Amino acid sequence: MKLTLFNAYRRAHCTCQPKYNINPYLGRCQHQCIYCYATKFPSFTGHARPRLILLENIQKIVGDTARKLPVMLSDCTDPYQPLEKHYKITRKCIETLAKHRFPLLIVTKSDLVTRDIDLFLKTPTAVSLTITTQDTITAELIEPYAPPPEKRINALQKLVEKGIPTTVRIDPIIVGVNDDLKEQEKLVKNIAQTGARQITVSTLKPVKGFFKRIKKLNLKLYEKLSYIYSDGEKIAGYRYLNYLKRKQVVENFRRIALKHGLEFASCREGLPHLNTKFCDGTFYIRKDMSIEGYIKI
Ligand code: SF4
Repeated sequence: MKLTLFNAYRRAHCTCQPKYNINPYLGRCQHQCIYCYATKFPSFTGHARPRLILLENIQKIVGDTARKLPVMLSDCTDPYQPLEKHYKITRKCIETLAKHRFPLLIVTKSDLVTRDIDLFLKTPTAVSLTITTQDTITAELIEPYAPPPEKRINALQKLVEKGIPTTVRIDPIIVGVNDDLKEQEKLVKNIAQTGARQITVSTLKPVKGFFKRIKKLNLKLYEKLSYIYSDGEKIAGYRYLNYLKRKQVVENFRRIALKHGLEFASCREGLPHLNTKFCDGTFYIRKDMSIEGYIKI
């Protein structure tokens, strides 16, 4: 038994460097974001459920894995969704990984992440918090059961104060929903003021089932997004914005990130030359890669 490598989907413009990935939970993540891409994988549909087997096996899995690549938690469910308060599977995995000095990349929308700061201090760790908007009404619409933006900003501040390198994903940017640049510049400014290092942006890339879900939820939004994506491109099972539209969005965010002294990356847009650091945040915990090598992928 070994840690599983993250599947960097090159056809979908993924430029991630090798890393492992652990999903401590299966089923539909309890945060229930309306845009969630993981819903296209059968293992991440149905009720959210803990992978209790990890509690038994994590020692062996980690012990059997020799190459100390960064370990990401998680790509398909939030490792700090509400179930984690009870089951503590994420904590157990991190505890074991930290003991073996694996670098960690934590990707979450939850302020529960601050519970594990004591463990993050034991091994190189970067935390990537997703904050898509500061507007609570928009956040409730698109991420109904995730902690509100204010709690996430407070968590970011706490992590920074403890010396943990943090980045923020403004992901996804949904044109017509959370792409207002004046509003988003306020968010970027607040992120910069916390001492976070970087923002990473990514435009919405609807997957199978997305439009059907939105139609049931909000007809106006469905009609708006259907129109916006009508001239988009289909890439590896994702609906992308038209190239010029997404390039414009990414360049706008790049400008405001640099203006506020932040590093910048876009994720899976096919625009890696605009990045100043790795998009996933592993730049802060890797010793082996330069941004130049990364851009050439
Ligand atoms: S937090 Fe992430 S994994 Fe969970 S529903 Fe939202 S997008 Fe999906």
